[in-house]
Amino acid sequence: MIDLESFRIDVEKFNSETNLEYYLNWSGQKDELKISKIYDKYSHLLDMKNVREIKQLRSKEKDGGETERRLRSLQAFVIEGLLGQNVKEYTDKAETVTAKQKIKVDSEVIPYRLAEVRYHNEDDREKRAKIFHARDRIIEEELNPILEERMEKLHGIARELGYDNYIELFRDAKNIDFENLDNAMTYFNERTESLYLDRMGEQLRKKVGVALNEAEKHDVAYILRAKEFDSYFTKDKVLTVLKRTLDGIGFDIAKHKNISIDLEERPRKNPRAFTALVKVPSDVRLVVMPKGGQDDYTSILHEAGHTLHFALVDPTLPIEYKWLGDLSVSETYAFLFEYLTLNRIWLDENISVKDLDKYLDFAYIYKLYYLRRYAGKLKYELLLHKSKGIKDMSEKYMKELEHSLTFKHPKSHYLTDTDDGFYSAQYLRAWIFEAQLRSKMAEKFGDKWFRNPQAGDFLAELWSSGQKYDAVELAQRIGFKGIDVKPVLVEITEHLA
Ligand SMILES: [Zn+2]
Repeated sequence: MIDLESFRIDVEKFNSETNLEYYLNWSGQKDELKISKIYDKYSHLLDMKNVREIKQLRSKEKDGGETERRLRSLQAFVIEGLLGQNVKEYTDKAETVTAKQKIKVDSEVIPYRLAEVRYHNEDDREKRAKIFHARDRIIEEELNPILEERMEKLHGIARELGYDNYIELFRDAKNIDFENLDNAMTYFNERTESLYLDRMGEQLRKKVGVALNEAEKHDVAYILRAKEFDSYFTKDKVLTVLKRTLDGIGFDIAKHKNISIDLEERPRKNPRAFTALVKVPSDVRLVVMPKGGQDDYTSILHEAGHTLHFALVDPTLPIEYKWLGDLSVSETYAFLFEYLTLNRIWLDENISVKDLDKYLDFAYIYKLYYLRRYAGKLKYELLLHKSKGIKDMSEKYMKELEHSLTFKHPKSHYLTDTDDGFYSAQYLRAWIFEAQLRSKMAEKFGDKWFRNPQAGDFLAELWSSGQKYDAVELAQRIGFKGIDVKPVLVEITEHLA
């Protein structure tokens, strides 16, 4: 039988070592990424036998009790780890394709990975389309055959573990009521349908000159890139803005010795901000390389939310609550900071955008698009993961995404545009719960909660429990019945109507 004490110690070491390895690679300090070596070292953790034994121990405990929830987190950890481990070669093969392939557009050679950045930034629609469709051919011909096999294998493991399908596996491990969430999002999409058609349609007509139902994915990528606001969100100001914001809620970062901000410019550093959990909570690193633009600000604020959450976890908690649990919770805190960029007072104080109404309109359309997109993704993933023939699902992908978003979606993206382990559902829960949490904070501390150290104390109290409670339980702890889509629905419709 599994020795839970030594198992937990190794889970912590495994997480810490993988995070450090990713940190070194992504921050540009180490060229090679040797994650598989760490997986080999801890292969005893990622064993089907462990899933069955933990599941069995769990079945003897009271549902929702301390022991049961800790076992559930461990079970989810092993499941995700062993799924990842078992499809490692496909993941590596797909990574190699994306790292090595190049596309050719009008005699220009563009590396596959750069192509996406290129079409987000390309003003010329014809050129944008060429890049997009050339990239698409690589997805179709090179990536999809690998990803189809990968998905078959993931589905097979779910059955081998005794579940009907991949959905049931994650329902059990993550304790998410997918149908309930899907229903809430169907309601959200219905209620925002005409608003979305109107406002997104208007953006596309004005900025690209096409109707929503004729627009392609690259047109939407281009308008959401929103270059026109870049000059307000300058590279040199972002850290001052972050520091001022955190000071406002009473967090002087310099005083938190367990938090470090990696600012160094290195040639191979990933420009996208990320949080490295080298040790929770004693060594949490916020890694940034500011490049400017509104998306840079939102991603740095987002990551700052993750960093603070993990850095303020009570160190005496068991590892399940410090490292594992429902990531919708950490994503909620990340969104709380990210969406300060939708707060008129915060914007006024921190970014002098000339036409604030125009910017806010854009930012809310962006948020609405995201929620509708993930609603469509969840619906599709619920079909994909119980399907018998994966190849037949490309049609369903197109149908669900176009139903949610109207503009054209290539069928070929039906496997590149999915998240492993229903992360899409966790994001949706975070979007929903963040609006609830924020409304609670506004009620307690006023609209300027981000300038009130008491709001910081309130958050610190929540953060101290790590991910012990899931998003539904946390919502209940702060006075709601559970997670409820209405606050985010009202916020968006009130702004855009
Ligand atoms: Zn996040």
